[in-house]
Amino acid sequence: MPTLPDWLTPQQFFQAVEEMRAVVGKQWVVSEDGPALRSYRDAFSPEEDDVFLPSAVVAPDGVEQIQKILKIANDYRVPLWTISSGKNFAYGGPAPRKAGHVVLDLKRMNRILEVNEEFGYALVEPGVTYFQLYEYIQKKGYKLWIDPAAPGWGSVLGNTLEHGVGYTPYGDHYMMHCGMEVVLADGTVLRTGQGSLPGTQCWQLFQYGFGPVLDGIFTQSNFGIVTKMGMWLMPEPPGYMPFMITYEREEDLHAITEAVRPLKVNMLIPNGAFTVGLLWEASIKTTRAQYGDPKKRLPDSALKKIMSDHKLGMWNFYAALYGPKPMMDNTFKVVREALGGIPGAKFYFDEDRKGDPSWDYRVKLMRGIPNMTEFNMTNWVGGSGAHVDFSPISPTRGDDAVKQYELIKNRAHEYDFDYIGEFAVGWRDMHHVFSLTFDRSDADQRRRARELFNVLIDDAAKAGYGEYRTHLAFMDKIAGTYNWNDGALWKLHHKLKDALDPNGILAPGKMGIWPKHMREEKA
Ligand code: ADP
Repeated sequence: MPTLPDWLTPQQFFQAVEEMRAVVGKQWVVSEDGPALRSYRDAFSPEEDDVFLPSAVVAPDGVEQIQKILKIANDYRVPLWTISSGKNFAYGGPAPRKAGHVVLDLKRMNRILEVNEEFGYALVEPGVTYFQLYEYIQKKGYKLWIDPAAPGWGSVLGNTLEHGVGYTPYGDHYMMHCGMEVVLADGTVLRTGQGSLPGTQCWQLFQYGFGPVLDGIFTQSNFGIVTKMGMWLMPEPPGYMPFMITYEREEDLHAITEAVRPLKVNMLIPNGAFTVGLLWEASIKTTRAQYGDPKKRLPDSALKKIMSDHKLGMWNFYAALYGPKPMMDNTFKVVREALGGIPGAKFYFDEDRKGDPSWDYRVKLMRGIPNMTEFNMTNWVGGSGAHVDFSPISPTRGDDAVKQYELIKNRAHEYDFDYIGEFAVGWRDMHHVFSLTFDRSDADQRRRARELFNVLIDDAAKAGYGEYRTHLAFMDKIAGTYNWNDGALWKLHHKLKDALDPNGILAPGKMGIWPKHMREEKA
């Protein structure tokens, strides 16, 4: 039998689940241990399955059912972990922060409520995936692009709530959202921004309303259940010009980053620009076993061979230009001068890399076509390949890029893992994503992965870098690093938590935000 929250007797728990079953219908509740329940484990967890295994799953089909479930959860104090499509892999997948908590799966709420071509937006429910929205837009023939996360099976709304990023000029998903509908723990339904004005036609046009902007507190949090969200969509541009530049030397990272900053800050490169490390690229199209011992990190001597076999650099820069051809041609002159001035830089365009899987999937992502190619990465280590992502934020500056790269690479090697990383330049900052890739079936690799991750959090915090998102296993520790002025920010989060959710039923522990009774238990 799965673990249950320790303040509930099995009778109370099963009674609550029975009542939820009566609300949603029996086929929409899973409460027995078996493959259906275990599909809600985190398949990439650095811990054993049971550490984050839920006790039950409930899938409502709309706001009214959510309200009824909340009433039952409040009556019995059943903790509910909300997911939209639950594909948040590398950060926990569908699993709750604590074993035994109940997953509230919003997959049935997958209606595309509106797509507006005139203004370029969609209004979606939580279960709508990137694939689904893309196919819908194609079928309707709308001249609009979406901005998918790398794996296209994820939820448009779920990824935005996690502060996920994409690859087109609309790559900062939270920045591009417009208007939310939220159900609070007590069942109250509210709309943010213009959505609170009855009769408005601007809910998806203007992000603000009148008074405080609250959207942010419903992201990476446990203050409510988001049931609708507006998302701006990019009008299809008249031209698209993706390009890739390879750089041969490790130390080129400094010059690349210095060249990218003004191009991004001045918006000459309009999309999410990525400086991708050699092994990230390699992991998409080959395996470690082809170049060395599958159980050990690759020696530096193997890297040169991968570079020449696959026409890759130590760093591989991807970006794109959009718009009328004369505009792209002009801008490209500036880009070529800035990024091509680094010795050894080689430019590639569509005709040069056709059929190359890592080029193909990036070209799709930068023009809003969802796909699943990046998942190839898990084949790199063989066995039961998995990864957790360590993702500190950095200024887009050469010194910082090199400092973070050296820090993470050296630590990874110390723990016998490959450095598989990329720098995603949004606008002024970079998300440095280190994909800590390991064979989950190997207990020793899992242990080393956890140890390495914990050390990295400390190292990064000491150097003044904080992570933008994390796996369930590291939420408390990272929350503890955002501790300026005696932890004033998390103290406020806890005040909000106690006020909005006094029984502590929503996603306990999300981002290190715990209900009062569990804070006391932890103390
Ligand atoms: P994706 O499948 O796009 O990766 P998930 O459904 O896994 O997204 O959601 C990512 C995380 O966001 C969840 O673990 C949860 O913490 C939070 N979340 C997802 N959907 C909601 C929602 N509708 N309301 C509140 N929080 C949510």
